[in-house]
Amino acid sequence: MAIDPQFEESREVVEEHNGHDVWGPVEEPDELGIHGTHVAVDFDICLGDGACLEDCPVDVFEWVDTPGHPESEIKADPANESQCIDCMLCVDICPVDAIDVDPGRTGRK
Ligand code: SF4
Repeated sequence: MAIDPQFEESREVVEEHNGHDVWGPVEEPDELGIHGTHVAVDFDICLGDGACLEDCPVDVFEWVDTPGHPESEIKADPANESQCIDCMLCVDICPVDAIDVDPGRTGRK
């Protein structure tokens, strides 16, 4: 299952983390929601593969620990989403389609 690109319509912001919004529902540790808005990562799909983190040309992603999550215990957090240059590399290389980038969606600055 891939990230829902229409998540702004189907979800609500429930908290702020590391300078970006988190779109719920969140029920830790099993359900973590979508982190980020311009660069959105569905933490409930992310496997902690790390390709996005290694290959993003402007270092948007940082690892965060998510102990107890059924998919993986680390996630690629879009900590610097305001730096994104919309190259779409992360969207293309994510093996589980956990990332959606939309230049029309504005995250926190
Ligand atoms: S679209 Fe490009 S610049 Fe933006 S987060 Fe993904 S890899 Fe980084």
